[in-house]
Amino acid sequence: MSTLIKNGLVITHAGSFEADVLIEGEKVSALGARGSNWVTDEVIDAIGKYVVPGGIDVHTHMELPFGGTFASDSFETGTRAAAWGGTTTIIDFAVQSKGSGLMEGWEAWMGKAEGKCAIDYGFHLILSDVNDQSLKEMDIAIGEGVSSFKMFMAYPGVFYSTDGEIFRAMQKAAENGATVMMHAENGIAIDVLIAQALERGETDPIYHGIVRKSILEGEATHRAIKLAELAGSPLYIVHLSALEALAEVTNARDEGLNVFAETCPQYLFLDLDDLGNGFEGAKFVCSPPLRDRAEGHQEALWSGLATNDLQVVSTDHCPFCFEDHPELGRQKRLGEGDFSKIPNGLPGVEHRVELIYHGAVTEERLSLERWVEVCSTTPARLFGLFPRKGTIAVGADADIVIFDPKRKHVLSAATHHMRTDYSCYEGMQIAGGVDSVFSRGRLIIAGDEYHGSKGDGKYLKRELNQHLV
Ligand SMILES: [Zn+2]
Repeated sequence: MSTLIKNGLVITHAGSFEADVLIEGEKVSALGARGSNWVTDEVIDAIGKYVVPGGIDVHTHMELPFGGTFASDSFETGTRAAAWGGTTTIIDFAVQSKGSGLMEGWEAWMGKAEGKCAIDYGFHLILSDVNDQSLKEMDIAIGEGVSSFKMFMAYPGVFYSTDGEIFRAMQKAAENGATVMMHAENGIAIDVLIAQALERGETDPIYHGIVRKSILEGEATHRAIKLAELAGSPLYIVHLSALEALAEVTNARDEGLNVFAETCPQYLFLDLDDLGNGFEGAKFVCSPPLRDRAEGHQEALWSGLATNDLQVVSTDHCPFCFEDHPELGRQKRLGEGDFSKIPNGLPGVEHRVELIYHGAVTEERLSLERWVEVCSTTPARLFGLFPRKGTIAVGADADIVIFDPKRKHVLSAATHHMRTDYSCYEGMQIAGGVDSVFSRGRLIIAGDEYHGSKGDGKYLKRELNQHLV
């Protein structure tokens, strides 16, 4: 099977050029000047459109057990929604349960994803029980293509690790080359503030945003950086939301440390006010929380993306239904009368590529090349998938999005493909949109039609971080 994508503007992290793209089998086999006369099975005219590498979302939680329920998207529904939005690879989080082996978590999540995914997928591992055995198993995980391990300074009693446990894991990572990913919020202090708020009768979702102070994200980010510096391991801060945390990452990078960070569309587009309006605010409960716009976090994050103090945009896709669901039961409403019991997480995997494009062009915040870089190229490099993924080049997987800058559309729960009953961006008009999507050479989205099927996506064995200084 061969396909010619002709007349498009090819955009990679390195530049933009008018070119025809030849796909043979699963790979890009040639790039040529416009008007090339290759003979192929299929020809797609991309005149007036952008031809970009498929999006890579390195932070998703399909079917994650959390707060007495499960994230509402399965690997089947979540990866299909991702494809609709121009994402052709996800890296999800397999979870080690306390008291179980690390690799048991990986095997369990491999089982959940097997035969279900519409697009290619890999895993990080959540290291929640640090002991001699799980530290040894980090080496085994790397052999299976899991080169990154997430730890939590938040959620005491659930995923939380002490500074000592974190430091031990970082020492191990310094030895085997793994990247430690950190949820950086001071969960111990936050729990004190939660208890005090509830005692005062402050139970609405807005208080979730008020007690999880941005200074406590800054503090935890600082601590994680110092521990990683001492241990000598690469560090990746997940879902950075606060300007205090960004300042820490910026300083560390200026010092030449291997410190990286992602932010998410919700921290760029939404804010603390969304958590208001009574229990409706539960739709916007995630951690770290949406921040106060007046404090300047959103502006700081956009600048950080432009200056490469932030390197990646991921989604932290972890959807729950607002209203009780016939199969999934009670989800967001578990937290009625107590904000601390609202499952943390937002739907987002479908909208990242389009939202960042929208922010990039409507406010002239990022170049088109930078849009591609933060949504695809750098995620591929940091998590060991480049140049197979993350660019359009001869020999790369033909994961390609044809993006139409004129395809204006409105985001809504009525039209999205994620398995959740609301949209955080209800009614928002987007400046452009995904036209077609290829996953390893197969056209899986064509206009308003889905041509893929579950099981098309393959497990990706990843290399170590390819972006170290
Ligand atoms: Zn997450």
